[in-house]
Amino acid sequence: MPNRREFLRNVAGASAGMFLLGHSVANAAEPSSQAGTGPKRREVMVGKRRVKTLDVHAHVTVPEVSDLLKGTPLERRTGNLPGNFDARGLAPARLQRMDEEGIDVQALSINSFWYSADRDLASRLVNLQNEKLAAMCATHPDRFVAFASVALQFPELAAQQLEEGVKRWGLRGAAIGGTVEGQDQELSSPKFDPFWAKAEELEALIFMHPQDSAHATGVSARVGGDGDLSNVIGNPLETTIFLSHMIFEGTLDRFPNLKICAAHGGGFLPSCKKTIKKKPSEYLKQLYFDAIVFTPEALRHLIAVCGVSQIGMGTDYPFPWTVTPVDEVFAEPGLSDADRAAILGGNMCKLLKIPA
Ligand SMILES: [Zn+2]
Repeated sequence: MPNRREFLRNVAGASAGMFLLGHSVANAAEPSSQAGTGPKRREVMVGKRRVKTLDVHAHVTVPEVSDLLKGTPLERRTGNLPGNFDARGLAPARLQRMDEEGIDVQALSINSFWYSADRDLASRLVNLQNEKLAAMCATHPDRFVAFASVALQFPELAAQQLEEGVKRWGLRGAAIGGTVEGQDQELSSPKFDPFWAKAEELEALIFMHPQDSAHATGVSARVGGDGDLSNVIGNPLETTIFLSHMIFEGTLDRFPNLKICAAHGGGFLPSCKKTIKKKPSEYLKQLYFDAIVFTPEALRHLIAVCGVSQIGMGTDYPFPWTVTPVDEVFAEPGLSDADRAAILGGNMCKLLKIPA
């Protein structure tokens, strides 16, 4: 277990908010290893109704990947991988945290680190990960679903991998980065249309999570020093650029039924006010966001701009951004019971095809 400072430094997948969160969150980075001894499962009620809660933003790793990658160019990225180093996997500590926080279902994802791999290696890695993700979900089918890994550097292959992930392995969509490591065309380029077409055809939710953002966005020279700016500026910036291209380059026009969920409240996008072919609010109907935005005012703004129907709960497990995701939804003023049930799990269960 790295110390807290290393732990946070390695969190490529997380975003702003560490400064706003207190001591209790620091403790939460290291949940008790004594599984089964914690408090019993929290059952979330809205009004008098038990609702199913879902965490759409939860990371996992596949330990067997280390062996597969030995002697390959990706070897150095195994082990303490950015955003992908939860060696606990589906250890009892994960279920314990879920039980304590009132999370019924986690939608597991692996942050993409293989976009530089050649076709053969990328195929073998993705096949292994998707098989293992399915096996993890099968251990607790009522508690976990997962997003497939895909080799987005080969869009046709990524489309096949998504299809196999959904049809063969029962995965619910795919997890992607915001670019192919900042090196290739934007994901709005027609080059990637085969992937978007397949996602639309399968009605598969695509979870976009920023990755190595300071590099990918070109701001790496500007975000040194204190404040973890590569994370708090770089990550939401990458998400913002990705979503903006998807709107302004017409990708969402070409695939009007494509559904994308962006991590950490979608970066800066919900504050954009440009007008293009359609009103921005119409594109927002295709975009979904997790509620990891750290303050009640930020969540209020996200809801006001995007609408209750576009938002789901997220924790960024195992990163210590929040341990009270359910309470944050209840603390938000002005929501009806139906609104709360939708954000707590209803919206994402529908998108991930989980019975409510
Ligand atoms: Zn994350």
